[in-house]
Amino acid sequence: MLTDKYFMPDLRLDDIYLVTPEFLKARGIRAVLLDIDNTLVTYDDPKPTPPVLAWLDSLKENGISAAFISNNHKERVQTFNEELGYFASWDSKKPSGKCYLAAMERLGTSAADTAVIGDQVFTDVWSAKRLGLYAILVKPIKDKTSLFFRFKRALERPVLSRYEKKRRGTERRP
Ligand SMILES: [Mg+2]
Repeated sequence: MLTDKYFMPDLRLDDIYLVTPEFLKARGIRAVLLDIDNTLVTYDDPKPTPPVLAWLDSLKENGISAAFISNNHKERVQTFNEELGYFASWDSKKPSGKCYLAAMERLGTSAADTAVIGDQVFTDVWSAKRLGLYAILVKPIKDKTSLFFRFKRALERPVLSRYEKKRRGTERRP
């Protein structure tokens, strides 16, 4: 399907902790551009949790840079990033690619060695794919139960089921 070019993640995992430095290095990835809400922490966590901090540290120790690209507002993103001081973008208007390009420029990486990690097909994955970045989709930590969110998740479902079908097909191959 034509839309899969933009919406199909390269990889779908349960959570960020399955994205290991070894995995990223094996793919030549030197930087990760991270969504915050429901990818790293829930909407209710103003700060990174200890496991998130440990995961970010493990990336850093392996020479992998990170930046935050969020559609949430300035205060939320700045509070989250206060102790880390990473490159961080708020009101990013994802799926616009503008903030991703700015982050790559700052981190000194290009499409070939940058990955995006997020929980939403129509913001995170779409931004990544239109710029040619490696897109990793993780399962949302805790979804809001509003009608709008349920609607968004319903729209993602066909893409995700095609991803699972494709993955099973690949696994079956010798
Ligand atoms: Mg999110």
